Amino acid sequence: MKTAGIIISSKRINDWDKFVNIISEEGVFPYIIQRGLHYSSPFTSVFTTFTNVEFLWDYAKNSDFRVIYDYKGFKHNELPKGLGSIECELLFELLRKYIFLQNIPFLKNEYKIFHIVFNKILSGSSNIKGLYYSFLLSVLQENGLFPQIDSCAICGNGLARPKYFSIENGGVVCSRCLTHNIGYDKISGNFIKSLKYACQHHITILEKNDWHYDILKNFDIIKRYYYYHYKEFK
Ligand SMILES: [Zn+2]
Repeated sequence: MKTAGIIISSKRINDWDKFVNIISEEGVFPYIIQRGLHYSSPFTSVFTTFTNVEFLWDYAKNSDFRVIYDYKGFKHNELPKGLGSIECELLFELLRKYIFLQNIPFLKNEYKIFHIVFNKILSGSSNIKGLYYSFLLSVLQENGLFPQIDSCAICGNGLARPKYFSIENGGVVCSRCLTHNIGYDKISGNFIKSLKYACQHHITILEKNDWHYDILKNFDIIKRYYYYHYKEFK
């Protein structure tokens, strides 16, 4: 079988052979590279972490282990030097989210999200905060966890101009419900506009992540929302 993907981790099995975890359109799977540690093996220099690779594989005899037997390395990647703390945090979240998805098929766009964000980090994208903001909103939408923005998340009444946002309650809340002693953030009309846009274009926002400074002031709200709901959901 022919597959293309990105190597996200590798592990030695014994003196000669190694496992690599590769993320591709079908999910994250471990593959065995026989003699992949031997100096004469053509795989040694290609099958390293964070490399894009196209390869041929088959199941090992009488087992469901996948074995790689040929490849066409098509892009050798290296992490840019001197990643800042926000790049590291996004990269870590990206890997943490996907590396544990072993053998579980992706939702429709999960690989697209991974691929775009990962390659943007590798290419040293300058607007990392914007990319991170887009990533969080993309993942939320893809997993059906996007904040409620059209009506109060507590009483359900429609809201033309929401002013308050409650992370715990999952979206905007009306002024009447604020009496319930809940934690909330004050929000702007532009913030709601950005959420409406992101909700409808949750993959294309990964490519265009030059969010206005005013929108990125809300980065922290979305980040807290994401970690609160994503963990609950898991
Ligand atoms: Zn309400």
